[in-house]
Amino acid sequence: MAKINLSHIYKDYSDDVRAVTDFHLEIDDEEFIVLVGPSGCGKSTTLRMIAGLEDISSGEVLIDGRKQNELHPKERDIAMVFQNYALYPHMTVFDNLAFGLKMRNESKQDIQHRVEEAAEILDIHEYLDRKPAELSGGQRQRVALGRAIVREPKVFLMDEPLSNLDAKLRFHTRAEITKLHRRLGVTTIYVTHDQTEAMSMATRIVVMNRGLIQQIGTPKEIYMKP
Ligand code: ADP
Ligand code: ADP
Repeated sequence: MAKINLSHIYKDYSDDVRAVTDFHLEIDDEEFIVLVGPSGCGKSTTLRMIAGLEDISSGEVLIDGRKQNELHPKERDIAMVFQNYALYPHMTVFDNLAFGLKMRNESKQDIQHRVEEAAEILDIHEYLDRKPAELSGGQRQRVALGRAIVREPKVFLMDEPLSNLDAKLRFHTRAEITKLHRRLGVTTIYVTHDQTEAMSMATRIVVMNRGLIQQIGTPKEIYMKP
């Protein structure tokens, strides 16, 4: 639910390592952008710069017209999901989901309501009292997604969120993410090297190679060339 303007972004890790070269893309409200390309082509670096986790060497990330790095963390409103779910092992599922809201001093009632709603959407409400170690990989991944959605962010950034799942769960969770996106309309940028994921989820696909954007288009335009 935010417009994101990625304006001529460069990332140099050192004098001789340029990870991203002139990444330029305007992303509309409610888009689902999928970044694809071979390992090392700069996908994660790009995502991390959008998240504010990595300094930008030059260029700008604008979210609804405002510079990302000048937004107060409270206004930043970006939720990120990684491939290793990074749940708090000593906390229950409920507390994992509630953590970000507690940090924002939301009321107990609000927290209860939003955690239950997210758990319902992701079909994890039966596990709220369990700890991550007592869950399957797919359930843990859904908790990680739940933790992102309870915050009601304007932007979702996902870095290979399904790569640790087996084929069946990957298919199931992929469908869930798509449903979630339709329902919430959160602007999403999703990194994968899986063509099927890109085809089935993206409004637009960005193909990267060696730090450069090679192609931008709808799944049809990218994969169904005559
Ligand atoms: P080098 O060839 O030594 O890598 P460049 O002249 O390509 O140096 O880039 C120098 C710096 O300017 C880099 O940090 C790069 O990120 C930035 N930069 C290069 N081209 C552009 C551009 N078109 N717009 C904005 N910044 C740029
Ligand atoms: P991808 O996500 O497409 O696999 P990355 O963004 O992780 O690609 O990496 C892009 C390039 O930047 C690679 O050449 C990688 O080795 C390099 N790189 C990534 N992170 C760092 C880092 N922290 N320090 C130095 N180089 C890095």
